[in-house]
Amino acid sequence: MPVNMFELPQPAIVIANSEERFPVRRIYCVGRNYGAHAREMGHDPDREPPFWFAKPADAIVPSGSVIDYPLHTENLHHEIELVVAIDKAGTNVAVSDALDHVFGYAAGIDLTRRDLQKEAKSQGRPWVTAKGFDQSAPVSALHTVADIGHPGAGRIWLSVNDEIRQQGDLNELIWSVAEAIAELSTLFSLSPGDLIFTGTPAGVGPVVAGDQIIGGIDGIDEIKITIK
Ligand code: MN
Repeated sequence: MPVNMFELPQPAIVIANSEERFPVRRIYCVGRNYGAHAREMGHDPDREPPFWFAKPADAIVPSGSVIDYPLHTENLHHEIELVVAIDKAGTNVAVSDALDHVFGYAAGIDLTRRDLQKEAKSQGRPWVTAKGFDQSAPVSALHTVADIGHPGAGRIWLSVNDEIRQQGDLNELIWSVAEAIAELSTLFSLSPGDLIFTGTPAGVGPVVAGDQIIGGIDGIDEIKITIK
């Protein structure tokens, strides 16, 4: 079916216990927000603070999806992350007010073409091709603050073919959710529909065609995808 350019779909995420879907405007991502992951990537988290990159909104794919192994990579990596959904506009938001801007939380996977990222890093180039490719942002259903509150701790994990690869706890975030929101709002005007991928714990690694990836955050949800 040819796509009618005047009827392009709005990327959106299922909301648990709701008929509504959360429309996605922008996807911001935090790099190196867990010390152990920063170290496994060869960096000192005490000397280099976390930082930002982005993915396009239509990189979102729902849990249960079968994802094509991406083009132009031989080293596709998984990164399980807490995803924060914003529903209130704001600029220069104070840390103490930041959680008022949160609609809910999900578990997401920041799929990464690690070989392209390594090349970009070595040449001082942007990460667009490493991070912002098609289907690079699988996300579980969103769970509202009304349903689950603001999880400040909880196990975050990911398995490949039932073998645990990543494990950490939300209480290890270098920038807390509130600090990340406050920091982001000094750079961009936050708007309803924005998502923040808050960074991944240690244990990132490659996946290949045929792998089944399941990740989760205790108290939130699981995200499950298969690589084709
Ligand atoms: Mn990441």
